[in-house]
Amino acid sequence: EFQQSHLLDTLPKQFFANLVAKVGKQVAAGVDVINLGQGNPDKPTPDYIVQATQKWVADPQTHKYSPFQGLSEFKQAAADFYQEKYGTSLDPAQEVAILGGSKIGLVELPWALMNPGDTYLLPDPGYPDYFSGAALGGVQFETVPLLAENNFLPDLQSIPEEVARRAKFFYLNYPNNPTGAVATKEFYEELVAWAKKYHVGIISDFAYGALGFDGQAPLSFMQTPGAKEVGVEFYTYSKTFNMAGWRIAFAVGNRDIISALNLIQDHLFVSLFPALQKAAIDALRDPRRDAAIAEIVHRYEERRNAFVDAAEKIGWHAFVPAGTFYAWMPVPAGYSSEGFADLLLEKAGVAVAPGNGFGSHGEGYVRIGLLISPDRLEEAVARIGKLHLFK
Ligand code: PLP
Repeated sequence: EFQQSHLLDTLPKQFFANLVAKVGKQVAAGVDVINLGQGNPDKPTPDYIVQATQKWVADPQTHKYSPFQGLSEFKQAAADFYQEKYGTSLDPAQEVAILGGSKIGLVELPWALMNPGDTYLLPDPGYPDYFSGAALGGVQFETVPLLAENNFLPDLQSIPEEVARRAKFFYLNYPNNPTGAVATKEFYEELVAWAKKYHVGIISDFAYGALGFDGQAPLSFMQTPGAKEVGVEFYTYSKTFNMAGWRIAFAVGNRDIISALNLIQDHLFVSLFPALQKAAIDALRDPRRDAAIAEIVHRYEERRNAFVDAAEKIGWHAFVPAGTFYAWMPVPAGYSSEGFADLLLEKAGVAVAPGNGFGSHGEGYVRIGLLISPDRLEEAVARIGKLHLFK
C-alpha cells in the first residue's frame, strides 16, 4: 500500500473535477447538456500550422533530443514577435524561456524563485492553477480582490504596506479569466512604479493576449516602460491559435526570473518535440498569422455579442467582456454561485462554472464559456429565461 507524500496532501482540490462529474451525471442520464463550464477552444488549429507540423514531423532531424531549454531559433522567433507586436526588445538567449504550455511555468515559478515562508499575491477571482505553485514551493500566498467597481483591476493603493513589502511576486492576468476585463496603460504604469517601490516581481499571464474585442488589441504588460526590470509575461499558443492540446508556450522578460525558470525546466524535462517547436516558429513567422488570429477573435466576438444580447433580453445584465472567451455573470438574489450553477444544470440543462471556484470574490458570479455556436448560446439563454429568475 502506498500513500501520497505530505507535499501532495497540501495541493488544493481541483475545483473543476466536481463540475465535470456533475455534468457527466446529467449527460449519462440522457440530458442534452449545453456545457458552458469549461475553457477549451472548440475550433481547429489554423491549417497553415497543421501543415507546417506535418512537414516537420516527417523530418528525421526532429526525432532526436534537442536542447533542454528549447531551440535557439524558437527563442529568436518569440523575441522577434514581441518586438513586432509590442515594441519590446528581448535578448533571446537570456530573456526568453520555452515552455510546454504556460501552466507549467506558472506553477513552477514559486518553486523556482521562492523560499519557505515567502509570500506571493494572487488575484481573487483568478485562475485556480495559480494556487498549486504555493503547495509545491512550500510558500504562502495572499489574495488581492478584483472588484466590479474597479473594472476588475486590483486597487494597488489598498494593498496594505506590510503585505506589499512582504510579497515576492504578484500574478496578474489581463485579458482576465474569469471576468473578461482588460488592463489599461495607466494601470500598468502604476503597477511598474508600485513593483519597483516594494520590490515585487510582476508575473503577467497573457494567456488571452490575442483575444481583444471591438477592434482593441489587448496591451501587453511588456509594453510598459520598465516592465522588464520588474517582471515577466507568459504567452501561450493555447488560445491565440486554438492549440490548447499541443502544449506550447513561452515566457519573456526579466532575466533573473527567466534564468530560474530555465534551470528548473532543465531538471524536469528533456526537450520538447522539436517538430512542435519548429511549427511554433512557423506559427509566428508565417504571413497568414494575423489573418488566422483575426478569424479566431471574430468568432469569439460574434458569440460574445449573441450571448450578451440574449442575456439582456431576459433581464440578465452582463459585465460586457472586452476580451477572452468568457462572460462573468451575476447570480440572482437569493442564490449562491454553486446553488445557482446547480439549478441551471438541473432545471435548464446548462452547465456553468460557479464563481467561487475562482476565489472568495467570485462568489455571486458564474463564468460562462463562449465556446459553442451563437445558436447554441442563444438556446442556453432561452432555457435559462424560462426559469424566470431575472426581473
Ligand atoms: N492562464 C490562464 C488564465 C488560463 O485560463 C489558462 C488556461 O485555461 C492557462 C493559463 C493555461 O494555459 P496553457 O494551455 O498554456 O497551459
